[in-house]
Amino acid sequence: MQLIFEKSVPGRRAVRFDALDVPEAGLPETLRRREAAALPEAAEIDVVRHFTHLSKRNFGIDSHFYPLGSCTMKYNPKVAEVVAALPGFAQLHPRLANAPEYEDAVQGAYALIYGLEALLAEIGGMRAASIQPIAGAHGELTGALLMAAYHRDRGNAHKDTVLVPDSAHGTNPASAVIAGFHVVEVPSCAKGFVDFEAMKAALGDHVAGVMLTCPNTHGMFEPEVREIARIAHEKDALLYYDGANLNAIVGQCRPGDLGFDVMHFNLHKTFATPHGGGGPGSGPVGVGERLLPYLPGPRVVKREDRYTLDTPEKSIGRVAAFFGNFLIAVRAYAYLRYYGGDGLRGMSRDAVLNANYVQARLEKAYQPAFDGRCMHECVFTGARQAEKGVRAMDIAKALLDRGFHAPTVYFPLTVKECLMIEPTETESKETLDAFCDAMLEIASLVDRDPDALHAAPVTTPVGRLDEVKAAKDLDCACR
Ligand SMILES: *Cc1c(COP(=O)(O)O)cnc(C)c1O
Repeated sequence: MQLIFEKSVPGRRAVRFDALDVPEAGLPETLRRREAAALPEAAEIDVVRHFTHLSKRNFGIDSHFYPLGSCTMKYNPKVAEVVAALPGFAQLHPRLANAPEYEDAVQGAYALIYGLEALLAEIGGMRAASIQPIAGAHGELTGALLMAAYHRDRGNAHKDTVLVPDSAHGTNPASAVIAGFHVVEVPSCAKGFVDFEAMKAALGDHVAGVMLTCPNTHGMFEPEVREIARIAHEKDALLYYDGANLNAIVGQCRPGDLGFDVMHFNLHKTFATPHGGGGPGSGPVGVGERLLPYLPGPRVVKREDRYTLDTPEKSIGRVAAFFGNFLIAVRAYAYLRYYGGDGLRGMSRDAVLNANYVQARLEKAYQPAFDGRCMHECVFTGARQAEKGVRAMDIAKALLDRGFHAPTVYFPLTVKECLMIEPTETESKETLDAFCDAMLEIASLVDRDPDALHAAPVTTPVGRLDEVKAAKDLDCACR
């Protein structure tokens, strides 16, 4: 595979213009390059073919089933793209949205921000939400800063610790530490839930907050969540909801009603906005009564029939420029209005149904990590396969050869040889069956021909890489 630079031919052009019939207005001398930029020179058709070809060598949600657990890689409805491309949104200069003298011109954008924050607050059972944070992890950091502001305000200087279950995403402890807290890990019990007794024992007066994911990253709903909220509140500790798995419960129950004080939403997981190549994400934060005064500002507020900006008196301030990734918020709003309440309830129900279908079809061949039904994702341990010399990584790579993106592997860290599969509600039974058939065929190969799996993938443009080297040395060999 040649690089576009290797296809470059001196003097070749995609576009040619006639000679100027007006005087040339050059750049000022100080802005001019001393040497020409090292750009490839190619014809338009060759550029188009080059990049179209490259795009087809990738796995994406628009081309393949993508069962990555804990990430919720679901179909991005194209109607949301149409809405986000409306010129009033797409061509809105961010500075306009922050300049009071232009308020008349941006009432539509303000109405959308106001409307989306209200819908998110309702779905989360929160008092209010802010769309500023630009990733789930950024929402966590914002939430941790809100908890810190609350305790500072109350003179709770001794509250310097946040409790995080061992099954949590790595961003949870990282966010808490960046916000200035110590982190104490709470173990899971054999059933895959937070160990309630250990949680109780860890919940001393020094605890500022508890971060929970529910359903947790084992794909299980925490049965003691209300009890955990009660004992946390007894100690004046706040309960944080990591909303990465919210798509399992949207419209069925609300974090606020379960006792959570603060949460983030991953619009790029729950509300079908694109993940992109690591972004742009959006991780709005929602708060209950206790944290309302500290929300990031400025906020869009409604006065009579007009939208305007206001910053809560005790606000922690801005956490992002402007209103975060606004066009992602537009897509999420379009998705929410397009689905409506019944549609969203159907979404979470079907997400859980699909995961249980996959679990039921695979559970003889692969050992479920925990007993019982799962929520929106099913978690298996490949320990049995590992005894025969085939690791979770081999299974993941073998799936690529069969036309499927791999599930999440080796996360959460609490499960040996973890395979975490999240089909999402947008996949048909035919697609789920084709994926399960591939998984079962791979399981049978573990017994018959494990070496065939060690070689995988053999059909992809790039074979099995030394992952550390691939990250450090980008010039590695492709087929
Ligand atoms: C994805 C995820 C996060 C972090 O969200 P980003 O948007 O990727 O920053 C946090 N917790 C859990 C459980 C997740 O799956």
